[in-house]
Amino acid sequence: MSCYKQEDLIKMVEEANRLTHKGKVADYIPALGEADPSTLAVAIYTGEQECMYAGNIEERFTLQSISKVLTLALALMDRGTDYVFQRVGMEPTGDPFNSISKLETSVPSKPLNPMINAGALAVTDMLVGNTVEDKLERLLKFIRQLTGNENISYNPVVAQSEFETADLNRSLCYFMRQHGVIESNIEMLINLYTKHCAIEMNCNDLAKLGYIIGNEGRDPNSDQTVIPLEIARIVKTFMVTCGMYNASGEFAIKVGIPAKSGVSGGILGSVPHGVGIGIYGPALDEKGNSIGGLRLLELLSKQYNLSIF
Ligand code: GLN
Repeated sequence: MSCYKQEDLIKMVEEANRLTHKGKVADYIPALGEADPSTLAVAIYTGEQECMYAGNIEERFTLQSISKVLTLALALMDRGTDYVFQRVGMEPTGDPFNSISKLETSVPSKPLNPMINAGALAVTDMLVGNTVEDKLERLLKFIRQLTGNENISYNPVVAQSEFETADLNRSLCYFMRQHGVIESNIEMLINLYTKHCAIEMNCNDLAKLGYIIGNEGRDPNSDQTVIPLEIARIVKTFMVTCGMYNASGEFAIKVGIPAKSGVSGGILGSVPHGVGIGIYGPALDEKGNSIGGLRLLELLSKQYNLSIF
């Protein structure tokens, strides 16, 4: 789609960047606190050879909650929908991503959806493999296939920094184990979870991955199905209903693109049938979404008429 012009993207990044001073980088994971809040970059992939981009496209960042989309896809491929949805629900929460409150009040006692931390931890627990290393390697292999980048790996410093400070996530796990939602050793689960949250890539990689999710799971280069159609559809729907935490409703109205954000400041966008978007802007708003990234998506959606609604 030749309608995407580099000079337009550069202008939009400049405009959105005016907001970044109002945001704050996440520092509850100490290693994330070192990010430069003035960074803002975007890549757009339309299935052709190269991405269009603006901003510092080389910069790599950790996926954080964006990885929830990928663990969900793999768990659904590993276990099937019945198994997964017996243990995690399909409803938005309206609460912050790390909230524990609904775990106590939902009947049956299971996390409301796989895009909040409780749900994602339960999903991580479902991945098939004998050891943490095995499971992580399978996930990395899947992500390398989706991005076409063999060098994708995780950032051990960020993973360790989260592992040492993940008491809230540990408490979600203890609660869920008591209620039979998860089964594993909790330290091993937190080990795997913090590593997959620390999987690193740049905006180009993210845009390519977003394209495949939007393209019903098909890789345009190999013409192979990397994610089965039904699973790509489930994942995309969660991105619409829960992808931007408790800002998903407003985001659906203002932007209307299936998307998933992470506290590193990354946002993955998957416009059905044709556009993958990767954004990195670590300055976050009060709900934990990239403040510049949100504005940029709003501008992109308007300019190119990308809302699915
Ligand atoms: N690793 C982060 C956590 O569990 C991911 C959260 C996020 O990106 N919203 O807190």
